[in-house]
Amino acid sequence: MSLRIRPDLDTLPVYVPGKTFPGAVKLASNEVTEGPLPSVVDAIAAAAAGVNRYPDNGIVELTAALAKKLGVTEDEVQVGCGSVILCQNLITITSGPGDEVVFGWRSFETYPLATRVAGATPVQVPLTGDLTHDLDAMAAAVTDRTRLMFVCNPNNPTGTVVEAADLRAFLQKVPSDILVVLDEAYFEYLRLPESQAYDALELRREFPNLVILRTFSKAYGLAGLRVGYAISDPEVITALGKVHVPFSVSSVAQAAAIASLEAADELVARTDAVVAERTRVTDRLRAAGYRVPDSQANFVWLDLGEAAMDFARAGVDAGVVIRPFDGDGVRVTVTNAVEGDVFLAFAENWGGARA
Ligand code: PMP
Repeated sequence: MSLRIRPDLDTLPVYVPGKTFPGAVKLASNEVTEGPLPSVVDAIAAAAAGVNRYPDNGIVELTAALAKKLGVTEDEVQVGCGSVILCQNLITITSGPGDEVVFGWRSFETYPLATRVAGATPVQVPLTGDLTHDLDAMAAAVTDRTRLMFVCNPNNPTGTVVEAADLRAFLQKVPSDILVVLDEAYFEYLRLPESQAYDALELRREFPNLVILRTFSKAYGLAGLRVGYAISDPEVITALGKVHVPFSVSSVAQAAAIASLEAADELVARTDAVVAERTRVTDRLRAAGYRVPDSQANFVWLDLGEAAMDFARAGVDAGVVIRPFDGDGVRVTVTNAVEGDVFLAFAENWGGARA
């Protein structure tokens, strides 16, 4: 058939998430293993009874709860159907054919894909040798066609972070009419020493072109409900509102997110446990000869180069599903000690080249 479908889509790769199978330990998608917090399960059940009605399209209650928690105004918050949609919508409101979107590479796979879906041009700036964003090179990559920049912090899939002073210096260099998205999908797992820590909300006051992206998918354990949010200047929020797909954040997702915000103490306990497990897994992998950068997220990166696919295939045979990036490395989600032990038993016994 010859249909009038955009021919440039032919060359776009399809996003393929990690596949799993019954009985496998799934460490491929940076999810939490435990279900949502008990109070959140109750809120989900209550909201389920009302799904014959459309959700609140204005997402009023959740937006107000987020604004209150974050100390911003409601017109500085946009909730979306997962932060991935907000990535896409930020590209939509800024970029089209001929425009450039700059980001580090390797990073979150949606950035190049969504940029190309918009018909814009991805500009991928290689990470430094220690697998962090090369902010100087990213600032130097800005042209008069640059419309948007992504800084994924901590970076998916390497877990590395750029610290406060570097981030501020970068923002000072980027022209103030270019939006810089600080994708903090893994924000809740950050445990930086004071000298390196940054407060994105404070930075945003200094740099109004900064957009912060966060999600309920990771630390809050609501990946299946699809809810994330952007914090930015009201001008950006107004534009995001125009491209927001009506009713795309379900009533169940809204209720679960509100209940999650009310369970802050339990959330901290859960993230603390993952952070402790992250240290244990990193230490053990390094002791076994793997190159693993310090991670500030709920996953670790094994810098395996050409051995990445072999390692992941052997993992599947051992009942562990992890995320390989061909020719580069593998990303392994950190969850709890039981699953961590299954992965470590496999990794410590793997016979292939480790670095
Ligand atoms: N940003 C980053 C860096 C991510 O890793 C992910 C999920 N893999 C997302 C955004 C999107 O998350 P969600 O759509 O579930 O909110």
